[in-house]
Amino acid sequence: MAKPRDHDFEFLTPQSELMYLDSAATCQVPTPVLEAYSHYYRHQHANVHRASHRLGRAATAALENARNVFAEYVGADAENIALISSTTAALNGLAEQLPIDWQPGDEVLLSYAEHHANILPWQRLAKRYNLHLQFISIDQHSGKLGDWRTLLNARTKVVSITAASNVTGAVFDIQPLLAAAKAQGAITVVDAAQAAAHVPINVNELHCDALVFSMHKVYGVTGCAPLYLHPELWPRMQPFLVGGGIVQEVSPRRAQWVPSIHKFEAGSPNTAAAVAGATAIDWLTKQQPHQHLAQLRAQFVEQLSQRPWLTLLPAGEHTTPTVAFYSLEWQAFDIAIWLDQHDIAVRAGHHCAQLLLQQWQLPAVVRVSFGAYNSAADISRFFSTLDAGWDIFSALE
Ligand code: PMP
Repeated sequence: MAKPRDHDFEFLTPQSELMYLDSAATCQVPTPVLEAYSHYYRHQHANVHRASHRLGRAATAALENARNVFAEYVGADAENIALISSTTAALNGLAEQLPIDWQPGDEVLLSYAEHHANILPWQRLAKRYNLHLQFISIDQHSGKLGDWRTLLNARTKVVSITAASNVTGAVFDIQPLLAAAKAQGAITVVDAAQAAAHVPINVNELHCDALVFSMHKVYGVTGCAPLYLHPELWPRMQPFLVGGGIVQEVSPRRAQWVPSIHKFEAGSPNTAAAVAGATAIDWLTKQQPHQHLAQLRAQFVEQLSQRPWLTLLPAGEHTTPTVAFYSLEWQAFDIAIWLDQHDIAVRAGHHCAQLLLQQWQLPAVVRVSFGAYNSAADISRFFSTLDAGWDIFSALE
């Protein structure tokens, strides 16, 4: 497919030399999404749900429309989608509020590929209740999810797993794990932050009880993360935050929560971010950049494999358009700085996934992640810039 028109992205002006290869961290925002955001604040802005005036009703309708769009995107009913501020906030809320009577020795099953946002909330819980965290290894040769069967048992109360690695781009085959976990009676949580922009998601097919993603990684803006909660789960949960908008009745010592998903949305919601997110989903659905992005990744990997001084991190056949590599001779941060000096934005480090790098005993790595605004010409320029740096650097050695 042809590259989407440049004028959907204001940062791609003819004067700008910037090549943005950091979409796994956050996507650049298409102009129609920025316009929807601005339109909301110019014409529809009011606080939602509690207003008896026309503008409040318009804002409420906009928020609820966005909820419908997110629900449809993941094959859920809107009644089961809570709008949270970020994936991080949702995972923290889930760890604290899943309806489990924790006993010492209970287990939570994660993988070594988790982002810190899906490790630290469980670590904090584990310390409090004396739980065991178990980790599924990631195969160093294939980049795929390792064997989990020996790690799943009657003590496993939660399986919380990422659908795709934010470092290598591997899309993991999590459905069999989630189905087995459900059969054991565990609660299943999916971190879809990296997958949501690239992989079709259906919460029913996945066998998940909870699934969350951040709209700023799906061409939306920060401040909106749709959280799916299974209809048999959320009525048994306590709110993540307590405050306005979530109570049916308050007495001096008690409160009764509203019997709806709104009980996870205390306080004034980020309606503008939700509106922008809904427009982003619409934009992405029309653009369908997936094949274009897969081709870019394949071309990148092919170019990388021709340079013996670079090593690719394995990711298997099924990937997002994210790729990571390192050089034993040229440090990742130095590579990133060299590229930045030539207007190429990549990321270097552990990418908030220190466990994966530790498991594979790797130094910091460079991550390149493509978005709908990238092109084959970017890859040529990337490697000619990198080669020029390597020529200088290796001559110094
Ligand atoms: N999980 C994964 C896999 C991620 O890549 C990220 C973002 N880097 C997060 C969670 C956290 O998302 P947010 O910063 O939007 O809370």
